Amino acid sequence: MNVTVIGLGPMGRAMTVALLRGGHAVTVWNRTPGRADGLGATLAPTPHAAVGASDLTILSLTDYAAMYDILAGVGLTGRTVVNLSSDTPTASREASEWVAARGADFLTGGVMVPAPAVGGPGAYAFYSGQRAVFERAEPVLRLIGDTRYLGADPGLAQLFYQAHLDVFLTALSGILHATALVAAAGVAPAEFLPGALETLTDIPAMVGDGAALAAQLDAGVHPGDLSTALMMGATAEHILRTSEKAGVDPGLPRAVLSHYERAIAAGHGRSNWTALYEVMRS
Ligand code: NDP
Repeated sequence: MNVTVIGLGPMGRAMTVALLRGGHAVTVWNRTPGRADGLGATLAPTPHAAVGASDLTILSLTDYAAMYDILAGVGLTGRTVVNLSSDTPTASREASEWVAARGADFLTGGVMVPAPAVGGPGAYAFYSGQRAVFERAEPVLRLIGDTRYLGADPGLAQLFYQAHLDVFLTALSGILHATALVAAAGVAPAEFLPGALETLTDIPAMVGDGAALAAQLDAGVHPGDLSTALMMGATAEHILRTSEKAGVDPGLPRAVLSHYERAIAAGHGRSNWTALYEVMRS
């Protein structure tokens, strides 16, 4: 089967390689055509030709605005478009309507591993959109990574993608901020980082597999006096003061402290730290 990939950044190139390895012929188009060099795919001269070459077109672009730049004016009737670019759930829903108005089926998705891991063990991606469309495309999509279908709402895959990256990006900023904090005191990053990464891997030990935490958050019940919002909030304030004293960007610890302050002000001081959820979601 011929598959089209539009967008040849690191991710689109990795997808193209995975699809070729899976035995498909692949037609590609990219704004900067040189990025197709050496891939072994067929470079289409225009987006119109690229979409026309296959029933299934996969987009791997910086955002959804790029999709409109590329596909405006391109005949889509009868095609299936799978957009694996990052954007908001709202942008996905709007795109789904835009594509449907042009007579094509649409799936949205988010690839949850870095480009070099695409097509390998542990790779997976979230998808949403009409189930029948997903089931038709799945045998191709599974070459990118395991497929996790979330439901018909085209915004769901982006919601899950963004929520996972919320965890990821916040953790990455935390690691860099903490490293800057010790570096400001003359400690080499190499002395600090292995231990800091251990702290990250301690989190699952603290919250388990998430089931108990999920039940607490659902119920709005935050028992326990080992890690209260008051105690953790005091530490959050110490981190902020340490950062300010060291001249290290205080934005991140200030945001964290604000969660504790608001939880305490709302009467959750003697509850478990999970009570922050109550002020975050309101
Ligand atoms: P890049 O930013 O490297 O590539 C984006 C692609 O979009 C390029 O092909 C670029 O074309 C094209 N593009 C951007 N804007 C336009 C436009 N206005 N018109 C035409 N083409 C445009 O991104 P990646 O390949 O790294 O990622 C692609 C998507 O996958 C992103 O949404 C990213 O969030 C997601 N993703 C990436 C991961 C990774 O490891 N890289 C991991 C998980 C998800 P040109 O080459 O001409 O600039």
